[in-house]
Amino acid sequence: MCFGVRDAIALALEHADAGPLTILGDLVHNPTVLSALEAKGIAVSQDVAHVKTATLMVTAHGTSGRTLARTRALGLTVVEATCPLVRVAHHAVALLVRDGYHVVIVGQRDHVEVRGLTGDLDRFDVVLEDDDVLALEWHPRIGVAAQTTQAVQKVRRLVDLIRRRFPRSDVRVIDTVCRPTKERQSAAVEIARQADVVLVVGGRSSNNTRELVQTCARYCARVHHVETDADVCPEWFAAAQIVGLTAGTSTPDEIIDCVEARIRQVDDKIGAMPRSVAEGLR
Ligand code: SF4
Repeated sequence: MCFGVRDAIALALEHADAGPLTILGDLVHNPTVLSALEAKGIAVSQDVAHVKTATLMVTAHGTSGRTLARTRALGLTVVEATCPLVRVAHHAVALLVRDGYHVVIVGQRDHVEVRGLTGDLDRFDVVLEDDDVLALEWHPRIGVAAQTTQAVQKVRRLVDLIRRRFPRSDVRVIDTVCRPTKERQSAAVEIARQADVVLVVGGRSSNNTRELVQTCARYCARVHHVETDADVCPEWFAAAQIVGLTAGTSTPDEIIDCVEARIRQVDDKIGAMPRSVAEGLR
């Protein structure tokens, strides 16, 4: 689990002990962690207007200044668990705006982090695929930043495309992909190159987990996204010698350990097919 998510969970538990707490949106995109928070009595609300507790927590994904102002105007106490590396991305966007660039974010338009990054802007674009770049309008100055959990290769490819599409524009890029994401992506590539089968553990709606699945799929034909050990199917390991195991930044160690134990259990049952489990994280 990356430090940003780990610290946000610790902060939520600490504040839940002190009094009723509502989290604005999903603290992490992992159903197991969310159930544990719910068991502690922590409420989750997707909209500030529906909050019933006096204290509201902003997640590691951060939020916009406008949302913060709206929250405070409602008389709520705000606890910010915004990851410092998401703050770096906010700062990058503010710099681009200050210097007169039209902001383009590489990321998922509806992702809470991207909504936070763009929430204070009146004009901006969000791109995720080549077609999104083709739909962009010309601007003399284009400033690009990325959602912190995007794959670096994808960001580079889209930036190249933007530069080719607008050769006369001044295109400035600020690299805002966070280090834990970069390290995980490169470890996943190494693992996927060696493994016959790769399992990526993480929530279905976790962006960085899905990016890991796509990255691994470029180097290994048999990649499976699992949320827990219950999703692991014995038939995936037929004739496999090496099984690769990696996980998204919001996946707790206990879940990864359970998946590894399940793989080894399958190994025993089907006659030692996967001979080694290569881990990409720890
Ligand atoms: S994935 Fe990166 S930006 Fe997001 S919480 Fe973790 S360290 Fe922070």
